Amino acid sequence: MDNKINFSFKKDKYKSARGGYSRLLNVCCRKCESVIVVYQKDGPGNLRRLYFDRIFAPENLAGLQALSIKNVPELKCKKCNRVLGTPYVFEKEKRKAFRLYQDAVIKRVRKLSE
Ligand SMILES: [Zn+2]
Repeated sequence: MDNKINFSFKKDKYKSARGGYSRLLNVCCRKCESVIVVYQKDGPGNLRRLYFDRIFAPENLAGLQALSIKNVPELKCKKCNRVLGTPYVFEKEKRKAFRLYQDAVIKRVRKLSE
């Protein structure tokens, strides 16, 4: 995946609610290790869901926020076709997200040239 995406962290109430600390991650398929999404993780803790509004790449997944949740397909690895997560609305914040299956992905912190 492109290593030179134009990038700045999204700063909003969700980020503030998690302590204002963010990292950029490559979220990878645990089975074949290909990169699934580039993702902004706010705050500490495990990665249990992927909020659509924090997905930066690839383009087709970064645009999911605009879709109705019932039109969003399962999150699949394009390379090995493994199903990694299922779309839902995180009720507490009314945010659209993928609920990740346990141990479906691995995360790697991207280095930022800031
Ligand atoms: Zn895979």
